[in-house]
Amino acid sequence: MKHKTSVLIVNSKAKSGKVFQVPTHIIVNWRKYAFFLVLLFIAFFFVSGFLIYQNTSRFYQERLDRANYVRSRIDLDKALKSFASIDSGVFRINALLQQKGFEKMKIDNMGGVSSSFDITRINAYADFYQKQIWDLENKLNTVPLGLPSGGEITSSFGYRSNPFTRGGAEFHSGVDYRGHVGDSIKATGSGIVIFAGFKAGYGRCIIIEHKNNMQTLYGHLRQIGVEKGEWVNSGQLIGLMGSSGRSTGPHLHYEIIENGEYNDPEKFVSTDDEKEDYG
Ligand SMILES: [Zn+2]
Repeated sequence: MKHKTSVLIVNSKAKSGKVFQVPTHIIVNWRKYAFFLVLLFIAFFFVSGFLIYQNTSRFYQERLDRANYVRSRIDLDKALKSFASIDSGVFRINALLQQKGFEKMKIDNMGGVSSSFDITRINAYADFYQKQIWDLENKLNTVPLGLPSGGEITSSFGYRSNPFTRGGAEFHSGVDYRGHVGDSIKATGSGIVIFAGFKAGYGRCIIIEHKNNMQTLYGHLRQIGVEKGEWVNSGQLIGLMGSSGRSTGPHLHYEIIENGEYNDPEKFVSTDDEKEDYG
């Protein structure tokens, strides 16, 4: 039988008190027990503190390792050189376009990427050039470039002897491409069809209005595949080659009109004749 001590708790308002039986050694050794409890509390405090510290430090270590890894994978010099190369490329394309007379097609470059290139702004740089290249693509699409059909040139732009009147010189306002009846005729640039029908001399004819006050004309067609007011994309099939109108055989008469003046379409196909200018 353990030795116990009775404790009587009396409420001054209550009629009867309550009697508790408490082991005597608790009352005798209460300091020891209190000390033990405090010790337990301190131990708990330290252990939990240590565990929290350990977890957060591991978390930060992992983050730090990841950051170091990412940094080790980035070659700042290489990125700098790449962006400088893109920048000068955009500058050269710009110069080339302006040399070819496309003043309105100016695209922006950053004017050289400096050595103070900040890698944290890499997304801003990438966005900038992405937009410029998109812009350039859109602009180039609107300019009539390249061939409207396959086939060799049978008559160039400019003055030529008139095949109909014989002897008299005549101004040829475009280029003639020989081919076969039914050959594909493609729009050389995107734009709006402003004429699609029969035109004196030209036979079945399509005129497309491009940006920068430029128009392209496709004549002597067998068949017209677009309607007035229609938007056409660069490279889109718009009709078939024929010999309608004032024509001596199946061919495409192709014109480029800029600001109301006839331009030599061959300038928009080949750049060979201007190569010496770059020297
Ligand atoms: Zn012609």
